[in-house]
Amino acid sequence: MNGDCIFCKIGAGEISSTALFRDEDVIAIADLNPQAPVHLLVMPLRHHANIVDACQAGDGALVEKLLAVAARLGREHGGTQGFRLVVNTGPSGGQTVDHLHVHVLAGRSMSWPPG
Ligand code: 5GP
Ligand code: ZN
Repeated sequence: MNGDCIFCKIGAGEISSTALFRDEDVIAIADLNPQAPVHLLVMPLRHHANIVDACQAGDGALVEKLLAVAARLGREHGGTQGFRLVVNTGPSGGQTVDHLHVHVLAGRSMSWPPG
């Protein structure tokens, strides 16, 4: 737990949120500022600043689990129309919260390239 981290606080229940999924490693919540009809965030309870840090720390199995949970939620919410998973990393990647998370976007057609 990183005491200054908003997603650590959400994971610890210090900031209230409705979990769409939760187990001993991972929590999924709705994004506060949704960019699609379905916009979920899947994050580990353990703090890693980003996906690079998680992999370098030897937590690749956690990254695999995050993606598996995100894919399942995408399938559940996007159905046969599909969905998009996004992992913004670093300033140029558009990351604004430095706690690893996977965005699950669904419910509309996504454009490419992303902005
Ligand atoms: P990033 O820009 O780091 O890829 O994504 C961070 C996401 O977290 C943004 O989409 C933002 O709307 C969302 N977010 C920031 N603070 C909160 C919060 O307190 N609660 C929830 N549910 N989402 C948040
Ligand atoms: Zn954190």
